[in-house]
Amino acid sequence: MSYIESIALGTMSPGRERPITNDIRINTMKRNTSQREAIKAVFEKERRALCIEEVLSGGQHLVKSLNQATVYRNLKLLVDEGWLKKWHHPIRGSMYEPTDLAHHHHFHCRICEHIYEIEGCLLDPSAKTPAGFLTEAHDVFLYGVCPTCRKTVP
Ligand SMILES: [Zn+2]
Ligand SMILES: [Zn+2]
Repeated sequence: MSYIESIALGTMSPGRERPITNDIRINTMKRNTSQREAIKAVFEKERRALCIEEVLSGGQHLVKSLNQATVYRNLKLLVDEGWLKKWHHPIRGSMYEPTDLAHHHHFHCRICEHIYEIEGCLLDPSAKTPAGFLTEAHDVFLYGVCPTCRKTVP
């Protein structure tokens, strides 16, 4: 946590008394900041792509006032700030993940619906696009059954 974030969270004194007239505004700001910090904490713990519902249930353990609307608003802010990336999974829909994750791919388990991060790149580097195409990015989605669910399904 940075010094500025600590001040915003109220865990560190900014070095001067804040004016009483600003209390309501500061309390609102503090609440918004702690909601956002709770959402960031969920991603920092999981280090993987999450849907809104997963962020909501993880974040509510930290900040009870979180609801779907506040989570959605804060996710949007974090995307605008460049801290999160929003992308679309063909089955799960909108997903969010930290932008600092290295290039990776996603495995969707059809039993538990969990999306796993698969480290590194699975594309064959010798596979080339036809002449004239400039490839700038790619997505690879894998589908199947995760190790945990394989133990419970034949
Ligand atoms: Zn599974
Ligand atoms: Zn790749």
